Amino acid sequence: MTKLQDDIENYLSHSHPHSDEYHQAVREVFDDIAEVYRKEPAYRRWNIAERMLEPDRIVRFRVCWEDDNGQVQVNRGWRVQFNNVLGAYKGGIRFDPSVNESVLKFLGFEQCFKNALTGLPMGGGKGGADFDPKGRSEREIMRFCQAYMQELHRHIGPNVDVPAGDINVGPREIGFLYGHYVKLTNRWEGVLTGKSPGFGGSCGRTEATGYGVVYFLKNMLQAHDQSLESQRVLISGAGTVALYAAEKCIREGAKVITVSDSRGTRVFRNGMSEKELVSLRTLKLEQHGSLEDADCGTWHSNKTPWFAAKGAIALPCATQNEVDGKAMKRLIGNDLLALCEGANMPLTQEAHDKLIDANLLYGPGKAANAGGVAVSGLERSQNASLQSWSMDKVDTMLSGIMEDIHNRCIEHVKRKDGIYPYSKGANLYAFKKLAEAMMAYGVK
Ligand code: GLU
Repeated sequence: MTKLQDDIENYLSHSHPHSDEYHQAVREVFDDIAEVYRKEPAYRRWNIAERMLEPDRIVRFRVCWEDDNGQVQVNRGWRVQFNNVLGAYKGGIRFDPSVNESVLKFLGFEQCFKNALTGLPMGGGKGGADFDPKGRSEREIMRFCQAYMQELHRHIGPNVDVPAGDINVGPREIGFLYGHYVKLTNRWEGVLTGKSPGFGGSCGRTEATGYGVVYFLKNMLQAHDQSLESQRVLISGAGTVALYAAEKCIREGAKVITVSDSRGTRVFRNGMSEKELVSLRTLKLEQHGSLEDADCGTWHSNKTPWFAAKGAIALPCATQNEVDGKAMKRLIGNDLLALCEGANMPLTQEAHDKLIDANLLYGPGKAANAGGVAVSGLERSQNASLQSWSMDKVDTMLSGIMEDIHNRCIEHVKRKDGIYPYSKGANLYAFKKLAEAMMAYGVK
């Protein structure tokens, strides 16, 4: 362990106790940049490390709302405004019982690096609540969104902080949140992204994260003389990211073998068809049902994709720490060629270390899933200039941005046994960009 890593561990255990996810995300970054940090005395003089680890501010608030039985419910809401040296705070809102301050700090920290990689002027932030929308009626979800915005609206603005969706926050929730913001402030402005294209949203925002993962994957494969065509792809999750990644894979001639939810995995032995994908999308995204009730493929109860099937490509698109050491061992043992993260930090530390040791193609989430926030950046541009761009235009820009991100990931690293270390490259590029801006700003 270097002195820097030692200092970081001490700082985290002292200033951010009980924050396992946050420690994990920070450790991953600082393991990669320790060497560069040591060689540049200015980083230490400006104390970039500690300044980067301390969010600008965390707003925590009570969210009170009434359920359908007239019972008052209380949840906890947050907005972590992490770092705004590269632009206004930008990042999603997540509604899930697993949300807590550690999770939001890890997501906010990652978001700073991810947004730096897009090349667009966006700082990092993240928000959410420990609200569980499962089993709640649409009216209850609307009332919850309104109650959450009742506090949040004080802290955001088109040039201050621009939230978007994340797990369990899609176009419907963004509509409720935005509607309440407009009502409270009497201002119609680009303060949230992920809106419906009918009222200021960008075409292609819903598809962007999933499509972007596949664009990144294609760039990565191409740089190593491989192609996506006919490859067997294991996808986890069945939310927006997973299903649009599946759509793009199918259209690129790959075979999507699995999708999954919290109850199990649906396996398509010879690859899912577009028709089957449409039926799954209707079931999951429109009817909020479980994959268990689908009538295509075969159902594997309580199994993750990594144990339900074999494939050369893995796209974990569900949630953090969903792939553990055992699952990674199995993936590698089954001749894994490439893994790209649609979710944020889906690998446990053990799984991550195993994948790095195996020296395989690895697209880290902060690069591979940056397409979503990138198109959010394009939505801001459209809102600011009162324009609305076509799907074709946005998709072409997304594909160009993903290629640029891919190239940024290899700017500061060399191939090791023929393979680019993308994870290290992503961390180095984003760290340098953030550190340079922080030093240019002086002490603040
Ligand atoms: N929640 C998404 C992410 O993890 C999107 C954020 C945004 O569009 O601002 O990057």
